[in-house]
Amino acid sequence: MAAGPGGFPREAPRGRAVPGVAPVPDGAPMSRTGPARAGGRRSLAAAAATGSGASRGSSRPARAGRGLSRPAQVLVAVVAVLVMGALGVVVGGATGGRGGGDGGGAAGHFPTAGAVAFPSADVRGRVVVLDPGHNGGNGAAAAQIARLVDAGGFQKECDTVGASTDDGYPEHAFTFDVANRAAALLRARGVTVVLTRTDDAGIGPCVDVRGRAAAEAHADLAVSIHADGGPPEGSGFHVIAPAHAPGAVNPGIVEPSARLAVRLRDTFAAATAEPPADYLRSQNGVVERSDLGGLNLSSAPKVFIECANMRNQADAARVTDPAWRQRAAEGIAAGILHFLAER
Ligand SMILES: [Zn+2]
Repeated sequence: MAAGPGGFPREAPRGRAVPGVAPVPDGAPMSRTGPARAGGRRSLAAAAATGSGASRGSSRPARAGRGLSRPAQVLVAVVAVLVMGALGVVVGGATGGRGGGDGGGAAGHFPTAGAVAFPSADVRGRVVVLDPGHNGGNGAAAAQIARLVDAGGFQKECDTVGASTDDGYPEHAFTFDVANRAAALLRARGVTVVLTRTDDAGIGPCVDVRGRAAAEAHADLAVSIHADGGPPEGSGFHVIAPAHAPGAVNPGIVEPSARLAVRLRDTFAAATAEPPADYLRSQNGVVERSDLGGLNLSSAPKVFIECANMRNQADAARVTDPAWRQRAAEGIAAGILHFLAER
């Protein structure tokens, strides 16, 4: 995603986190969404931990009761402890929600890279759309990809050039390679895979066509594969799930897409050891957005995955490594297979 060498605008402004946290600095208005789905348990756990920590200071409020009778002092102390405990829960809950999303604090949450488990469920005959972001011919077709198309209640550029590493490895090549690796893994399990583009030298397709691809294919789900062009000092991956949008064709995809996002987040992290992006607010690597035509126009559960930040040196080393791209494909395929196995 993001601006490419041709100077095309970012695909979209930054998202907002799943729970109700503030938009990130460069974010344009994002739709407000419901309460957190993922991460609620983390927040509660963090709250509980903080609450118990707060109770260690219970001797201080008791001193505030000097001059009162002994029973009154005890009562004051008990009330003070209860109030501090309640405050601790509130502060802990807020901290836990944000900390989980900013990546650094969540490092221990993810296992190291390794083989990721594929479920044993029979998924033969299921249909999946894989959408490798951008295309190799976009850079030489500025007018064509700049034309406006329906993006689900508003208009947006047909497509963008995409991001690239500082050394010039382009996002379209990365997404095409990872999508084909994931397709091979899924096809080996009997899944029918439809790709939105079958070469890496063409133009588009436009985001409206990408968005409607799952309906065209009567697919169970779709995953759009990208790599981000974020700030060079930031790294990590994130999954983008659809938020309710005014022109979205099917509000019914919001809930299953959120589940798909969490599945994909967990398997991708397990397969690659890539941490959640640390340069945008997310719920442990999951963001909801309503400004992407590729999500708004889908009538099947769909998410984007931004596998890494191509502008970051460490992430650039990963995306240019074929072995890492294979693990990325395994993580994506595993998330898809888990989702299919549960439906
Ligand atoms: Zn992209």
